[in-house]
Amino acid sequence: MFCKYCGKQIPDDANVCPYCGKETHAKKSEPVQEVETKKTSDSAPQIFGILSIVAPFIGLSFVGIILAIIGLCIDKNKAYKGLNVAGLIISIIILILTIVLSIVYFILIAKYIEENPGVIPQYPSF
Ligand SMILES: [Zn+2]
Repeated sequence: MFCKYCGKQIPDDANVCPYCGKETHAKKSEPVQEVETKKTSDSAPQIFGILSIVAPFIGLSFVGIILAIIGLCIDKNKAYKGLNVAGLIISIIILILTIVLSIVYFILIAKYIEENPGVIPQYPSF
């Protein structure tokens, strides 16, 4: 091939031109570009995975379950499967805990009302 800077004939596999010393870029930089595009196209499942882990901690465990399922569906390369599965499990656990705690809370309030008829419970003292 010919050097694109000085125009002299140089070996095809030369990385640097022996005449002018400039980089010839004989080796294509395509693999690097491929990795970059893969990364950007795969960032969506990662975002869904992270949000599905964060959501239950701000009281949105049901939203977290939905986000994790979407994340798993759009994650074709399964690159962030673990992240989305973790988000799904955390969301489900916190959703169940929330339901169980509210049931316990209401049972205790119902008991309080039963034991103290006519008294409106102001603060649950348990
Ligand atoms: Zn050259």
